[in-house]
Amino acid sequence: MPKDPVPALLSHATERLEEQFTSLPDFDSALSPDSLAPVLDEVARRLGDNYPYFHPLYAGQMLKPPHPVARAAYALAMTINPNNHARDGGRASSEMEIEAVRQIAALFGWTECLGHLTSSGTFANLEALWIAGQLAPGTRIVGSEQAHYTHQRISAVLKLDFTSIPTNRHGRMSLEALEAELRHGDVGTVVVTMGTTAIGAVDPLDEILALRQKYGFRVHVDAAYGGYFRLIPEALDAPARRAYAVLDQADSIVVDPHKHGLQPYGCGCILFRDPSVGQFYKHDSPYTYFTSDKLHLGEISLECSRAGAAAVALWATLRLLPLIPGGEFARGLTRGRAAAVELDRRLRVDKGGRFQPLAGRPELDIVAWKINAERPERSSQLAQQIFAACALRDLHLALVELPLAWFQPVVGAESASRSEAVTCLRSVLMKPDHEIWLDEIWNRFSAACADVLGEKERWQQK
Ligand SMILES: *Cc1c(COP(=O)(O)O)cnc(C)c1O
Repeated sequence: MPKDPVPALLSHATERLEEQFTSLPDFDSALSPDSLAPVLDEVARRLGDNYPYFHPLYAGQMLKPPHPVARAAYALAMTINPNNHARDGGRASSEMEIEAVRQIAALFGWTECLGHLTSSGTFANLEALWIAGQLAPGTRIVGSEQAHYTHQRISAVLKLDFTSIPTNRHGRMSLEALEAELRHGDVGTVVVTMGTTAIGAVDPLDEILALRQKYGFRVHVDAAYGGYFRLIPEALDAPARRAYAVLDQADSIVVDPHKHGLQPYGCGCILFRDPSVGQFYKHDSPYTYFTSDKLHLGEISLECSRAGAAAVALWATLRLLPLIPGGEFARGLTRGRAAAVELDRRLRVDKGGRFQPLAGRPELDIVAWKINAERPERSSQLAQQIFAACALRDLHLALVELPLAWFQPVVGAESASRSEAVTCLRSVLMKPDHEIWLDEIWNRFSAACADVLGEKERWQQK
């Protein structure tokens, strides 16, 4: 592990913070530090039982280490432990949240919008669908079969009808299937996923907006994973670039700073283009809104207590790495995407034909591929075995169930039933360092494949 800069940064900044409270009389805390050390030793031991998420050889799930400045700012905020429900509980951190959210909104071209941080993308999506239901009671929500699984559950919680729309073999919402639903006349909201969790597919927002002209519905964009890619249109292929270019025309957007935004968990974000939806949040808290006449974030949020520290960490990160095209943060996104494109390319040109990549190149920085085998069951089994063999070589990939139909030749597509799935390997190459580590990742992956499938020559003879 590289030397962690956080402890030194933190000790210096803690002094700066403490200096501001020196007018208060001292008080004894009954703390005996000696009793803490053994407990922390035990915690450290327990935490060793994890995959090494911080390391570039962890290339599995959507796990990106928080930036050191975010970890330091979060830990510093813990000295105060502010609560961004109200200014009464988090004066400075509420201001920092408003400033940070403004910067995220600016990424989507919005200035006059309403938005706040949430504890997660799920909760941010819940707020979006709750508002959608308030605005058009009795109408349906639709989203693609590849939309995040929580949309269906959230809709059930909100007692809203949810319909799944099939996707094409690129994992994007099928426009024909969407239009067929729209013709029924009762669709209130379309959930557009920009960056699906499974493969990073980008729904065709531009074409969905054209349908909005015709049918009239609300557009909620779930960009929990993919939102930040708006910063690097030049690195995207044409369909995704077209979709990102019109993101400002959505009615609401969810983005998760704790996914691609270098934040510790506990940091989602919901944005509404029309600030007047704030009226639906209106309530009186008998306890909390007293110390300021300015807006308290709890007045525009469904959650009550929220970690002010999450806002402080995000603010600090945006201060260091502003969301500007060509900036350091944007370059980091581009590097991860380059790694994904390169891994996908190597899989496609494999001489043994051992792999079946998806129909198109990765749209963002997620790669998924099937192992070639006579039967899907065997393919799934081999994927599991290679996944395990990689882990033995300290390379951590992920697995994903994808529709078998995506991998069939187009002519034979009807031979796989819609619901049939195959287990595939999946790699989320979201760390900038994945680019320079790709050779090492590839070498270890190749060795693991040889373990499972036999040497390339033998495989080719089969
Ligand atoms: C991760 C994700 C979510 C859920 O966000 P959480 O922060 O995990 O609750 C929703 N939608 C998409 C597209 C995601 O990738």
